[in-house]
Amino acid sequence: MKIKVQYAMVMNLDKCIGCHTCSIPCKNVWTSREGAEYMWFNNVETKPGIGYPGKWENQQIYRGGWTVKGNRLKLAAGGRIHKAMNIFHNPDLPVIDDYYEPWDYDYDRLIKSPPKNHQPTVRSHSCLTGEPMDPAWGPNWEDDLAGLSETGAGDVNFNRLEIDTYLKFKNLFMFWLPRLCEHCLNPACVASCPSGALYKRDEDGIVLVDQERCRGWRYCVSGCPYKKVYFNWKQGRAEKCIFCYPRIEAGLPTLCAHSCVGRIRYVGVLLYDADRILEAAAVPRDKDVYPAHLDILMDPNDPETIQAAKAQGIASNVLSAARRSPVYSLIRQWRLALPLHPEYRTLPMVWYIPPLSPVSRQVADTSEIPAAIDQMRIPVTYLANLLSAGDQEPVRLALGRLAALRHYMRLRRVEKQTDTQVLDPVGLSAQDADQIYQLLALAPLAKRFVIPTAPVDDPAVFTRQGRCGLGEAF
Ligand code: SF4
Ligand code: SF4
Repeated sequence: MKIKVQYAMVMNLDKCIGCHTCSIPCKNVWTSREGAEYMWFNNVETKPGIGYPGKWENQQIYRGGWTVKGNRLKLAAGGRIHKAMNIFHNPDLPVIDDYYEPWDYDYDRLIKSPPKNHQPTVRSHSCLTGEPMDPAWGPNWEDDLAGLSETGAGDVNFNRLEIDTYLKFKNLFMFWLPRLCEHCLNPACVASCPSGALYKRDEDGIVLVDQERCRGWRYCVSGCPYKKVYFNWKQGRAEKCIFCYPRIEAGLPTLCAHSCVGRIRYVGVLLYDADRILEAAAVPRDKDVYPAHLDILMDPNDPETIQAAKAQGIASNVLSAARRSPVYSLIRQWRLALPLHPEYRTLPMVWYIPPLSPVSRQVADTSEIPAAIDQMRIPVTYLANLLSAGDQEPVRLALGRLAALRHYMRLRRVEKQTDTQVLDPVGLSAQDADQIYQLLALAPLAKRFVIPTAPVDDPAVFTRQGRCGLGEAF
């Protein structure tokens, strides 16, 4: 047993309002540079929709992630030897038009225009060529349901659903999916790089690109099934989300999490058994990857785990943070958060609480919850395709628990009644319900982000180096 530490993030999709406040500080701090104009380490996609880059979820096109042949786990696009033999030919890459040609406006013309009879207007121009352009595609093209009639058929999460039915007005639905690098336990980007430039940090699992070793082959871009490595055309190097590690080391959350106005994000550490990664990633059936993934996460309150972790050199402040970790509770203890497309077998570490979209009718008691979930605007099949390799049971469990919690709290706060029986069918206790309610509805910053500082000789270094961007009191 080899116990390792991993940072993870949980996002509550019920509360994301698609405001993109998370993307802006990330862009300003990390990718506001020439060569990185089109990059969004954090983006927020409109669902249904084909995302950014377009159709990134369609591995028939991009061949990202891993597949299982017999008992063997293989990169879907072929291993390093295959890549070394075909190093100048990588047909699986997205091109700039799949992301979008970034554009801007000449705001000075608006601000400095002299008084006229009509409002001044400006045309968009390309950030790459400087030429005027008429945008024809970009992230969130389907927002407010625009463009869905054109792109909807390309959304693979409609698998096993009649897309035409969901384009009818009464059946339409929409939600947002914020995305960043998953800092996977079994990262296909690392395994795909012929130069060995990508690596997973031993101390906290953050996946990084060594800029000195990168030779710009871009096999990490095609290997990542989430399309979260980007190619900087100016530098000729790969770049990706760094999980804001300079902030994390100082005990601060990532910029996207800290700035989230919906307070949908939770960041913390998990302990897992690194010796069992292959076993979890190589289970034969796609729908078994999620339970196998859960299985290698270790209980941070278990005395034997604590003792073994200490013996393997994991610091006591990290173990203390793991015990208070909101992400462990949401992922493992209550099974409310699910991984994005577990069938890619990279064992991703950004998890999502599925949206309990407005149910079509009021639930009178918990016996009605299963039927109400079937009548949700967002079909369970769609969420299962997105979050549990098509298996509806984990999605139904999470949604059932959220619906029961909503019913329980409504009885308590509006009707002034306490009825724990409403929690029994979904396997929650009154204490669980209180803790989930506190975490999802009320938790202040210190409960949403439990981040141990990195070991340093001089703890004052974090104060001296300054705390860029946002302050602590949010
Ligand atoms: S999501 Fe991140 S860690 Fe996972 S394969 Fe892609 S770039 Fe690598
Ligand atoms: S800031 Fe939060 S609520 Fe707004 S889009 Fe980002 S994740 Fe969603």
